[in-house]
Amino acid sequence: MQNNINTYKIIAENALDPIFVTDTHGLIRFANRAAEKVFGYRVDEFIGQAVHGMLHHSHPDGTHFSAEECVLVQSYASGVAVEDVVQQFVRKDGGFITVSCSLTPVAQDGQAIGHVLFVRDISKRAEAEQARLANERRFRVLTDAMPQMVWMLAPDGSIMFVNARFREYFGELGAGDDPISPIHPDDAQGNREALEEALRTGTEYRIEHRARRRDGIYRWFLSHAVPLRDEAGNVSAWYGTSTDIDDIRRASEVLRKSRETLRLATEAANLGLWDYYPQSGKLVWSESGKRLFGLPPDARLTFERFLELVDPDDRQRVQAMTLEAAQGSGGRLDLQFRAAGADGRLRWFRVYGKSIADPAGTLVRFIGITMDITETKLAEQRIRDASQRDALTGLPNRALLFEYCTHLLAIAQRTRSSGALLFIDLDRFKPINDTHGHDVGDVVLRQVAKRLLDCTRQEDIVGRLGGDEFVVALPHPDDTYGPATVARNIIRRISEPYYIGDLQLQLSPSVGISLYPAHGDTLDALIKCADAAMYEAKKTGPGRYHFYAPAEDDGSERVQLIERRLREALDNDDLMLHYQPVLDLESGSPAGVEALLRLPLPGHEPLLPDEFMPVAEAAGLVTRLGEWVAREACRQHQAWREAGLPSMSIAINVAPQQFRQRSFVAQLAESVRRSGMDPSCLQIELKESTVLEDVPDTIASLQELRSFGIRVALDDFGIGYSSIGLLSTLPIDKLKIDQSFVNGIGHDAKSQTITDTVLALGRSLHLEVVGEGIESEEVFDYLRDQGCDQAQGYFLSRPLSAEAFEHWYRDTYTPEQVLH
Ligand code: C2E
Ligand code: MG
Ligand code: MG
Repeated sequence: MQNNINTYKIIAENALDPIFVTDTHGLIRFANRAAEKVFGYRVDEFIGQAVHGMLHHSHPDGTHFSAEECVLVQSYASGVAVEDVVQQFVRKDGGFITVSCSLTPVAQDGQAIGHVLFVRDISKRAEAEQARLANERRFRVLTDAMPQMVWMLAPDGSIMFVNARFREYFGELGAGDDPISPIHPDDAQGNREALEEALRTGTEYRIEHRARRRDGIYRWFLSHAVPLRDEAGNVSAWYGTSTDIDDIRRASEVLRKSRETLRLATEAANLGLWDYYPQSGKLVWSESGKRLFGLPPDARLTFERFLELVDPDDRQRVQAMTLEAAQGSGGRLDLQFRAAGADGRLRWFRVYGKSIADPAGTLVRFIGITMDITETKLAEQRIRDASQRDALTGLPNRALLFEYCTHLLAIAQRTRSSGALLFIDLDRFKPINDTHGHDVGDVVLRQVAKRLLDCTRQEDIVGRLGGDEFVVALPHPDDTYGPATVARNIIRRISEPYYIGDLQLQLSPSVGISLYPAHGDTLDALIKCADAAMYEAKKTGPGRYHFYAPAEDDGSERVQLIERRLREALDNDDLMLHYQPVLDLESGSPAGVEALLRLPLPGHEPLLPDEFMPVAEAAGLVTRLGEWVAREACRQHQAWREAGLPSMSIAINVAPQQFRQRSFVAQLAESVRRSGMDPSCLQIELKESTVLEDVPDTIASLQELRSFGIRVALDDFGIGYSSIGLLSTLPIDKLKIDQSFVNGIGHDAKSQTITDTVLALGRSLHLEVVGEGIESEEVFDYLRDQGCDQAQGYFLSRPLSAEAFEHWYRDTYTPEQVLH
């Protein structure tokens, strides 16, 4: 027995958990080593102490209690065992440990002899439990703060947890409930299937559905859940959220509907919507917009690509107007243009747009609509035609004539070209009307209109002013097609007999001619002059034509005289060239001469080009004059060479009409070849305005000239509109600064600035610069000092006859120089 007791004692001594044995008074009689280790007292310090007095302290939740309330004390008193009572005990060092105690009364021979107290240190477990509780609290606080509904499902799909927001929405739906219960009956099945699928496969779950709020209203939600897996990879729970997307869905539905409405409305109205972002160059078009231009729905557009769609005639205008409207915010665009439509044919479009800028004023967006206005345009055209055309002959009436001619006059002004207007009145028309009736008169007028059209070119305008009065405008008269020639043709054609039924009728026209710009620069003025000239023609008999002559200075006679003299001089080789020396400013010796045309007038000083060139232009004689000048200049050049003068350049002036002749270059080359002169000695002078017309053709002609070695100068430079960009592409050799600027040197700052600019331009484009019209030493010195290459003007020499030039040259330059 003693042996047994010793064995138990050894076991108790070495047990891993503290064990105490107390007597019936609760005083410790035995404590093991684990008790020493856990509580920090030595065994002898335990012996004789009451357990509860020495160790116990409180409940794990921190509530204190008196010794009487202690379960252990009650157990000692009642003799009833207690099991797994959790308490906080105090260690010797004052620290707490959480323990679980079991107290068992011990009896011997039916007599209570004391208690055995088993204690287990559960501090670690308690800490883990604390941490779990804290986590759970944090999770709750966090999920309750979320605007979404948060929920957790068990692996079998039943609800484990819902947050406050969830309860607020759906009412009390607690642990174990079916999560599908608030879902709209129409969506429930789909939802259940999706959930089951997710539970089965353990994959994420996301679905939009309607669910009933606690107020009974169904709203749209987005529910989303992800599985939580334990270390072994098994799903231990589902974490999910449900977001109320009802407002978003409603808003996007409204947006979709309004987009649809806009789309249907624009389709119905045949409108294209566009949106342009200048910074990225992105241009977005609605499908209906693309359809207007026959583009596929997936076509990508940029502003440049759009411009390519626009008819070349309108392109520049469209680009300029768009760029202008794009300047800053609020810029509005309203423009009409032609472009190939869906059927590939040219159609009319109208674009409205508005630019939008950011607060800093930078343009960020340009938005607008495009519509096809072809039908409107055609209708307008029909109305205009009806109101602007003569109902009887179909010819333009006075109003349309004005419209056309205003346009032509603007072009003529810009290109400094000339034109002619013919006023035609029928002689003996009234008797036809009176004798044969208006019907016959009408047929005659219709035939007259037709014959007038036969006598004119496409670009000419034939109109009827009323009664038996017609007008023909010739925008481009030339040598073979001058106003007099056209007048003669008209007189011949209109005077041919008219056959109407059995009738053969005869009439003739009287034609009055006025010239632009000599007789006026408005259509009114030109019609008035031509009308007056027509009366003069009538005076001389039926079937005549007459050029207008202003009554005051009897200019008509002078114009006629000049025209006659010009023809005579051309026929009899009776024209004359004067030569003005051009000085090389670096060497100080003559670089060449400019040939200037003179029209000898018996008994008078020869006429100057300013007076006879406009008449020559109007009479269509310019080309013949030009050919004569080229021949004569080349011949003279060779004659000087033969007379021993050094090789100098000779410049001739070329009028625009002459330059534009197809045969110009060939004829000039032929004159050079015949004379035997060195082509590089020949220069042609063209006015700036001449080269600005038909630039590609001009460049081609200039290149051809230069391929023969002939050099090219731009005359009267500075008054035109040549851009530097254009200038740099032109194959030219020289700039002649316009006299008006040269004359202004020393008088006005603007002239000086322009002169300086032309000099700088010449230097940078490697062109020679000539100062012409130099009348004073001051101007001469200035130009020389500024690095001008050549000089010409009365200060050096007036234009001289060929003979006088030869004398001047020999007098001014030493024989040695002459020999070189
Ligand atoms: P342009 O080619 O600029 O010729 C220079 C004109 O200025 C010449 O007038 C010349 O006499 C004049 N001039 C020269 N130095 C001075 C000066 O110091 N002061 C002033 N005030 N004038 C000076 P011109 O001979 O009366 O010729 C006038 C224009 O007629 C020429 O201007 C040229 O454009 C044109 N022209 C002359 N000959 C011909 C020709 O053969 N064919 C063509 N198509 N045009 C010609
Ligand atoms: Mg000239
Ligand atoms: Mg000039």
